[in-house]
Amino acid sequence: MNPLIEPFKIKVVEPIKMTTRAQRERLIKKAYYNLFFLHSNDIMIDMLTDSGTSAMSDAQWAGIMGGDEAYAGSRSFERFEQVVKDLTGYRHIIPTHQGRAAEKILFSSIVKKAGGVIPNNTHFDTTRANVEYTGTTAEDLVIDEGHDPASTYPFKGNMDLKKLKACIEKAGPENVPVVMMTVTNNSGGGQPVSMENLRAVRDMAHSYGIPFFLDACRFAENAYFIKQREKGYADKTIREIAHEMFSYSDGCTMSAKKDGLANIGGFLGINDDVLAQDCRNLLILTEGFPTYGGLAGRDLEAIAQGLDEVLEEDYLRFRIGQVAYLGDQLTKMGVPIMQPPGGHAIYVDAKSFLPHIPVNQFPGQALTVELYLEAGIRGVEIGSVMFGKKDPETGTEIPAALELVRLAVPRRVYTQSHIDYVADAFVRINERKKTIRGYKFVYEAPFLRHFTARFERV
Ligand SMILES: *Cc1c(COP(=O)(O)O)cnc(C)c1O
Repeated sequence: MNPLIEPFKIKVVEPIKMTTRAQRERLIKKAYYNLFFLHSNDIMIDMLTDSGTSAMSDAQWAGIMGGDEAYAGSRSFERFEQVVKDLTGYRHIIPTHQGRAAEKILFSSIVKKAGGVIPNNTHFDTTRANVEYTGTTAEDLVIDEGHDPASTYPFKGNMDLKKLKACIEKAGPENVPVVMMTVTNNSGGGQPVSMENLRAVRDMAHSYGIPFFLDACRFAENAYFIKQREKGYADKTIREIAHEMFSYSDGCTMSAKKDGLANIGGFLGINDDVLAQDCRNLLILTEGFPTYGGLAGRDLEAIAQGLDEVLEEDYLRFRIGQVAYLGDQLTKMGVPIMQPPGGHAIYVDAKSFLPHIPVNQFPGQALTVELYLEAGIRGVEIGSVMFGKKDPETGTEIPAALELVRLAVPRRVYTQSHIDYVADAFVRINERKKTIRGYKFVYEAPFLRHFTARFERV
């Protein structure tokens, strides 16, 4: 295979502070074996998230200097609005400070009464929380392949059409204010959705008179997968594919911290004039005037430029290729990961990697700690620490379905040799994995315990 090279040169650098294993032993102990308590300065490769962590280009930084900070009618907004309209085709573009603000405004406006249902392939956690906040049930209806870590089905983010139909029929179409689709399916491992499935979900939603919205955070990564994997798209440009994806929907929510290649920002795109009016009224209440919506003019410039750059095929080939490369390295050495690699992260199956650690001693947590000790890498546990529950009667732990460690890859931040360094850490952990021990809580908060938990080695 040709080596994957970074399709960019490096003009500005941010030093990484190198630490020794002895230093990391001290630091992680002081952090109660919870990586959320570490200082980012003490981390060498930070794979906690791909959100808001992208490196901006020289053209984005130049745009920042040209930001127009006028309260109303800013030319930076006009540029932003034009770029988003050209990309999506929506009639109304409403800037927000990030994705969840777009969600809050959309669901507050589109849900007219409590008690309904909003289906999605898989709701991202902020999306679910904002749906539930309106008294609406959030239903996840991804296809069965999406739940099977070993399945190599090419579009594991697809919506199950039978489940969707049954869900709408059961609730009654008048109680389904909107059907959502998340591209790529973040909470389902960054797995893509096919164009065929988008079209079919649109058709079904519209046949019941229900609007169809995209959660478009990773639209460009999804478009790249369609180009690679779906018949009839190999010769289309990413922009054409993305445009077609958006064309099937009546609007979208977007976090520019993902495929906007920016460090903050988001937007709401809407076709319906009345809904757009309602959303703008709410925007003024909580975010700001409709020509800046919670952002500075310079942020709008950075996002406008980022939305152009993210469509470049050389960029996406490197982006998706880098994630796949890490996945291939781990697979070759026998480290079990969710297959096939998604767009933005690798998910290691810690339960099968560390079978000697019982789930009530948190194999995912053990692996994240070990990655830090070995090489200064920060991943995130997505398993029973994050999603386990206490039985309300007996107080015993009910484990999560999967014990995963997510290694998210920030966009344009790490080179291929950084990725080799991560893979190399796994080689050494793999050799001594039988010696790795589990963890127990010494403190846990009543909710969202993963952020503030303290652990001890068992
Ligand atoms: C990040 C994300 C959001 C929320 O966006 P924020 O900018 O973090 O508020 C919503 N949906 C998906 C799929 C996301 O990945």
